[in-house]
Amino acid sequence: MSSPTSSTARINVFWHEGMLSHDTGRGVFDTGMDPGFLEVLEKHPENSDRVRNMVSILRKGPISPHVSWHPGTPATIPQLLSFHSQEYVNMLVEADKIGGKEICCGTFLNPGSLDAALLAAGTTLSAMKHILDGHGELAYALVRPPGHHAQPTRADGYCFFNNAGLAVQLALDSGCKRVSVIDVDVHYGNGTAEGFYQSDKVLTVSLHMNHGSWGPSHPQSGTVDELGEGEGFGYNLNIPLPNGTGDKGYGYAMTELVIPAVEKFEPDMIVLVIGQDSSAFDPNGRQCLTMDGYREIGRTVRRLADKHCGGRLLVVQEGGYHVTYSAYCVHATLEGVLNLPSPLLSDPIAYYPEDEAFAVKVIEAIKQFQTQNVPILKEV
Ligand SMILES: [Zn+2]
Repeated sequence: MSSPTSSTARINVFWHEGMLSHDTGRGVFDTGMDPGFLEVLEKHPENSDRVRNMVSILRKGPISPHVSWHPGTPATIPQLLSFHSQEYVNMLVEADKIGGKEICCGTFLNPGSLDAALLAAGTTLSAMKHILDGHGELAYALVRPPGHHAQPTRADGYCFFNNAGLAVQLALDSGCKRVSVIDVDVHYGNGTAEGFYQSDKVLTVSLHMNHGSWGPSHPQSGTVDELGEGEGFGYNLNIPLPNGTGDKGYGYAMTELVIPAVEKFEPDMIVLVIGQDSSAFDPNGRQCLTMDGYREIGRTVRRLADKHCGGRLLVVQEGGYHVTYSAYCVHATLEGVLNLPSPLLSDPIAYYPEDEAFAVKVIEAIKQFQTQNVPILKEV
C-alpha cells in the first residue's frame, strides 16, 4: 500500500481517568523508601500528575481541534493471555488481593493499581481495534502504568502488562501480516522485544540510552547483538545511543537505521512507542531530545505509515517523568504524527547544547554491524 503523505485532520486519543488511581507513593526517587534525611519527599516519578498534564495539554493546547477523544475500557484476563502467561497474571491478581506489594525494584502494585493496569492494557487494545475496524488511521493510547518493560512472565521498570505488545498481537490475530514497533522511550523496550523475540512477523526497533541490564527483572542488555532467535533472528534491532544524544543524533539514527529497516520489512501496521524520558529535562534519562526532535520523529514515522501501511499508526504512551516538559513533548510528537505544516506550540524551555559528533560515530558503527549481521539489511 502506498499513498503520499498528507495532513490528517484528527488523531483518535483513547483515555480513561481510572488510570489515575494507580498510586505509586513517595520516597527517595523511585525506591518507595524514606531513610528520614529529607524534609520534602517527592512523588514516585511514574505518578498521575505527568499523565494529567498530557491530557490537559491535548484538551487545552492548540492541537485540541485535531483531537477526537474516546473512552478506554479495561482488558479482560483472557485478553492478557495473548502476551502474558497465566501464572504471571495469577501472581498479580493474588498480590492485589492481599493489598499489593513491590513486585520488583521500583514497581509498586498498590490498591487500585491492578484496575489501572487493566485499563491501560484494555485502552491500548481499544485504540488498536479502532484502527483495525477502519474507523480511523491514527490513534494514541494515552495510558499508565506504562508497559514496554513488562515481559510475558514478569513485571519490570514500573510496568505490569505490555500494552503495546498486546496491541501488536491483536493486529496479528486480526490479519496483519507484519507489524513494526518503533520505541523511542529512553529505556530499552525489552518486554516487547522479549514477547516477539522468536517472530519474524514483528520487527521491534528500540532507540535507547545505553543502560544495560538493571537486574533480575531486566536481564536483557539492549546491545546491538540481541537480534532475536530462530525465525525471529534479525527482527529485533537495538540502537543504544550515547548519553546526550539529541535532536540531530536521533534524526540521524532515524534516517540511517530506522527508516531503511522498516522499508525493507514493509509492515502493514506501525506502533510508535513513545516516552518523553528521552527529553533533555527528564530525571530518568540522559538524552537531549526537545520538542523539535519529537515532532520530527512523529513526522518520520507518519511518512513510513503512509508509505507502507495505508497510514495506519498506533501511538502508545510509555515513560516521560518531567511533569511539564513531557506534556509539551507529547503535543509536539502528535503535531508531527498529524503532519501539520508548521509547529503549533513553541518550546518554552529547550536550551541545552547538542554535540552530535559521538552519536554519529556510534550510529555509523551500528549501521556497519547491522548490514553485516541482519539478513534483511545485508548489502549484496
Ligand atoms: Zn523509559
